[in-house]
Amino acid sequence: MDQEQKNITLSPIEVIKEKSDYLRGTIKESLGDPLTGGLRKDDQVLIKFHGTYQQQDRDLDDERKRQKLEPLYSFLIRVRVPGGVTTPQQWLSMDRLSEEYGDQTLKLTTRQAFQFHGVLKRNLKTTIQEINKSLLDTIAACGDVNRNVMCSANPFESSVHGEVAEDAKRISAHLTPQTNAYHEIWLDGKLVDGGEKEEEPLYGKLYLPRKFKIAIAIPPRNDTDVLSNDLGFIAIVENGKLLGYNVTVGGGMAYTFGNIETYPRTADVAGYFPKEQIVDVAEAVLIFQRDHGNRSERKNARLKYTIDRLGLDFFNAEIKRTSGVQLAPPKEYRFDSMGDKYGWTTGADGFWHYTVFVEGGKLADRNGYLAKTALREIAGIHQGSFILTGNQNVVIARVTNDQKVVIEKLLKKYRIIEASGISLLRQNSIACAALPYCGLAFAEAERYLPTLIDRIDKVLEANGLLQTPISIRMTGCPNGCGRPFLSEIGLVGRAPGLYNLYLGAAFVGDRLNKLYKEMLSGDEIINALSPILEDYALTRTQDEYFGDFVIRKGYIKATTEGKNFHS
Ligand code: SF4
Repeated sequence: MDQEQKNITLSPIEVIKEKSDYLRGTIKESLGDPLTGGLRKDDQVLIKFHGTYQQQDRDLDDERKRQKLEPLYSFLIRVRVPGGVTTPQQWLSMDRLSEEYGDQTLKLTTRQAFQFHGVLKRNLKTTIQEINKSLLDTIAACGDVNRNVMCSANPFESSVHGEVAEDAKRISAHLTPQTNAYHEIWLDGKLVDGGEKEEEPLYGKLYLPRKFKIAIAIPPRNDTDVLSNDLGFIAIVENGKLLGYNVTVGGGMAYTFGNIETYPRTADVAGYFPKEQIVDVAEAVLIFQRDHGNRSERKNARLKYTIDRLGLDFFNAEIKRTSGVQLAPPKEYRFDSMGDKYGWTTGADGFWHYTVFVEGGKLADRNGYLAKTALREIAGIHQGSFILTGNQNVVIARVTNDQKVVIEKLLKKYRIIEASGISLLRQNSIACAALPYCGLAFAEAERYLPTLIDRIDKVLEANGLLQTPISIRMTGCPNGCGRPFLSEIGLVGRAPGLYNLYLGAAFVGDRLNKLYKEMLSGDEIINALSPILEDYALTRTQDEYFGDFVIRKGYIKATTEGKNFHS
């Protein structure tokens, strides 16, 4: 903690963490209270570090109030999957748990994790135990700690992809909290002996000032949206060999409506280092944020604000001081996309890999479309891996020639949408979970974006743009879970049925968008976009992306850094 930080008043959340005895609080007592489906207030904070959030079904709020009942509380559980790689057995376990204890859907998140919604308190412990039995876990999937470490999807694509995926796992293991509380509470592990002091060598009692996100990208694909992360690594590859990484710091999406002291930010590229030092650098950046992050004001606590407050020169000097790593000037790299490659591809391993488009990352059996059942059946016969991508999709990886035939039959049987049959706008879409469960949502996202895209597709079709790549993302609030400020068309909920429209982000993820119009209904969004898309079809230059076009034509000013997002 720097001198300035020592003299501050801790925010209420910091105090809860400090008093929690390394994240124990009274979670056990809260779980055992039969009088409510919820947890005590402080425990609602602490439980996030264990990978779960208390939520309520907001669709039922009015009816429950009318019946004089407390809200229908339930829990989101996020399952950590470093790099997104799982086995068919693990897939089947997640599928079964979502059926038995969740709302029968499985959410594939924008950070390569599984998410269950609608788990009741009485089933929380059993579900977390079962997740651990499948050799996955939920510790640090949420909370003020390092979250799931993301990595360019498919470690089987090349030897470099494999090596980078191993680095993601090493970082994840190294930065996982050490507290025994998780085992005590969920897995009936033994208490640390009385009097023996439990330590968190890296985090300390207060953990981090705010959540901390790490991603690795392998150019030219930026499928992890690396610059939206607190800490990112861009693989530098020469002649098919991984040399090292550019380290990026200070990315983040969230801001608060009406508070210009808060803003989304793309990360700065701070320097380059040889690949052997990746865990040392990751630890040093985490320590930097632990010691210098703002612990009095949570809205300004992310690493992005620490970097803007203290500057990159100080940051680089601190990394050298704590890790001994002297960052060299960044190496050149180039991104050409953020999305996934859909359909069949072959990897360096000689196997086939099939990327399934999952709209909004939501796997469900609905309206006669049995996507969840299809993946379950495929998992039942698949001998390779399933890989969750940072774009809410899934890769059925390491498929043999013989199995390819069987899997193709199942994909056809269940009419799994071939990405080639849908617009490139839909292929490049992301939506957060939002309503009904997320307590922060002002408006729908995942349940509404598909319908809105149907309408925008009609405009695209009329202008011959259906096969032109344009990115679109929608979230229910500006917290930014679906990274809306890095999409060419960003939509963020302001009130039920009303959205802010943001334009002008770069298609490859290295420039933020900017607010174009506020509080638009669905009709108004279509009315706002239609003339611009028409102009784009008529006057764009060759290969010009929509996000670049709206800036060139003066529809919006470019956001050159987070601090000018609002101007
Ligand atoms: Fe909830 Fe907002 Fe995150 Fe969407 S972006 S899941 S509404 S917190």
